[in-house]
Amino acid sequence: MAQIYNFSAGPAVLPAPVIRQVQSELVSYKNSGMSIMEISHRSSLYTDMEAEAEENLRKLMRIPNDYDVLFLQGGGTLQFAMVPLNLAQKNKQTGFVDSGHWAQRAIEEARLVPGVKADIIASSAAVNYTALPDVPELRQQYDYVHLTLNNTIEGTMYRDLPNVLHGQTLVGDMSSNIMAQRYNVEDFGLIYAGAQKNIGPAGMTLIIVKHDLVEGGTELPAMLSYAKQAAKHSALNTPPVFAIYVAGLVFKWLLEQGGVEEMQKRNEKKSAYLYDFLDSSSLFSSPVKKSSRSVTNIPFVTGNAELDQHFVAAAQENGLVNLKGHRSVGGMRASLYNAFPYEGVQKLVEFMERFEQSVGGNK
Ligand SMILES: *Cc1c(COP(=O)(O)O)cnc(C)c1O
Repeated sequence: MAQIYNFSAGPAVLPAPVIRQVQSELVSYKNSGMSIMEISHRSSLYTDMEAEAEENLRKLMRIPNDYDVLFLQGGGTLQFAMVPLNLAQKNKQTGFVDSGHWAQRAIEEARLVPGVKADIIASSAAVNYTALPDVPELRQQYDYVHLTLNNTIEGTMYRDLPNVLHGQTLVGDMSSNIMAQRYNVEDFGLIYAGAQKNIGPAGMTLIIVKHDLVEGGTELPAMLSYAKQAAKHSALNTPPVFAIYVAGLVFKWLLEQGGVEEMQKRNEKKSAYLYDFLDSSSLFSSPVKKSSRSVTNIPFVTGNAELDQHFVAAAQENGLVNLKGHRSVGGMRASLYNAFPYEGVQKLVEFMERFEQSVGGNK
């Protein structure tokens, strides 16, 4: 099979050694004669696997002991509702930074929870989300303030948390840059991430939540309650066993590679290579303000929708796949998650150079 480079935004590329390990032990997990998909979630084969995954994740992200780690289902999207259900019960006042598509989905869902008020404390809608919004000094204490750390569709990312949010309970959506960039878990009350971008297969959602915050929510239906999920260690019902297993292998792989710092270094290098090309190209360009640029999701355009389409098709024929931008913004997008190799970015830039020459490069 010819080498393929998969730029998909999610579900996304996984480390090749992890895929090979899944293949090699799929038929008989730990010599049990059964696959991981066929064993009971009450067996020690499962509970040992889950415990090791959690331990490795705690190491990678330096998660303090007073935070619970949950492996749940429902994707990032269920967290848009589950967070206000559990954490907006004191004053029912929440604040949101409107930084793009996923932030907006989070706001819409929070507003559907009875009684919850969601203030938009900052927005970059006026510049089409091509930059991160400036967050002003806040005059009130919210139950929590919600921040999308990496805007997967628009290609913007917080490298540092806005200073003015210090003192608020921060909820962070890290679906597309968790462990791609070092953040301090202690700065957050809760962090969530759908697995299928930078962790593993779809079907598992990671939640890291400060234990104090989890103590409310006991009146909620069990599946929607962090307190009840935490009390049963994410196994209140059948957990997504296969997704947790693959995520556990990815955590092990990340540790072997040197952890989050090493990933961050590689991601900076990969993304800088592409941004440098975009900034010097006479055909392609990045619509995103330099200081706001993401290291994991990089949108770019030629300025001509027809030419964009032609480029995506030609790239695909050359083994550079899933470069089409999100339907809401068009153009192209290269997602360079932890498992995406540097060589893939080099191949993409080489191909873009050739393409530019072939069309005469007129920006
Ligand atoms: C993809 C994505 C989501 C939605 O995730 P699902 O798991 O599909 O529900 C939420 N937030 C961000 C930042 C995303 O990139």
